[in-house]
Amino acid sequence: MRTHSHVEEIADSSRVSTGALPSAELVRAAMKQAYERYRSIQEGELATYIPALAAANAGSFGLCIVSVDGAVSAIGDSSCRFTIQSVAKPFVLALVCQACGCEETREKVGVNGTGMGFDSILAIELNPQRTMNPMVNAGAIATTSLAPGESAADKWRFIHDGLSRFAGRTLELNEDVYRSETTANQRNLGIAYLLESYQRVYFDAAQATDVYTKQCSLDVTVEDLAVMGATLGDGGVNPLTGEQVVDPAICKRVLAVLATAGMYERSGDWLCDIGLPGKSGVSGGIVTIAPGKGGMGAFSPLLDEAGNSIRAQLATRFLSEQLGLNLFASKAAQGSAHVRAS
Ligand code: GLU
Repeated sequence: MRTHSHVEEIADSSRVSTGALPSAELVRAAMKQAYERYRSIQEGELATYIPALAAANAGSFGLCIVSVDGAVSAIGDSSCRFTIQSVAKPFVLALVCQACGCEETREKVGVNGTGMGFDSILAIELNPQRTMNPMVNAGAIATTSLAPGESAADKWRFIHDGLSRFAGRTLELNEDVYRSETTANQRNLGIAYLLESYQRVYFDAAQATDVYTKQCSLDVTVEDLAVMGATLGDGGVNPLTGEQVVDPAICKRVLAVLATAGMYERSGDWLCDIGLPGKSGVSGGIVTIAPGKGGMGAFSPLLDEAGNSIRAQLATRFLSEQLGLNLFASKAAQGSAHVRAS
């Protein structure tokens, strides 16, 4: 049973319950520890199905945390550029929800995990809704197709401009990766045409796939990811530029979708280990959001079998623990032991 109409009646975005990040000194000390602990780990594989990604430097490792009050702490290869890939998905979802409305977007692209790989065709065939959620390729291409604009160029402008506002700077297209992914894009095109046959893509399938491929090919650094994440964790306000990029209610929705499906078929494991919404991409980037506290960007290109960066996951897990970020952690309220005993 769908209950969201009832939920909407009681929704009140003005009530929030969060905390603050520990002091900048503590954040920096924990980041240094995380970096030293995991920098020598060599496990994992580079993504090779996009030929240009196979040329990545496997040793790169960088971390950045940006707090909602704009403090930036970085360590390692924090200015190394890599393509954003699937980490663009939550931000494009936020922009499209802002333009089209959360409920219309939910009807058209879904919010439930598929439990299958990011480019699964079976997930489309097995689910009567076809597009299950915007964090895997089918739902993401459908989300991109909903971007406002009559032409592919308009849609690209909307997405490029919006992602740049999340980052607080104009992001550049990596032409090499874009060309490389375009030559190897048969599977995504197949997904888009299959969706078109079910009327679950909302623009020309090939052109929507091309805009999606461009959004994946924007170059970012871990600092960009941390700023973008911090914006979603700061009620939609970019903590460095002060710009309101999307509304607070949109952030709340996007973070919920991320929590269910941000880490491919490992989303449950991620939530158990880290306890925060996060999104990974096949070039090795991970963005993690601590609502009301800030955002974290982590990058290292060696991936596990599900396509998630191994070092970035380990460092994020360590930092979530050290900085007390897990959303599900609680302590007994003061005096509650006494209340129970009496
Ligand atoms: N551009 C990649 C694709 O669509 C993104 C995949 C990912 O990062 O998960 O295949």
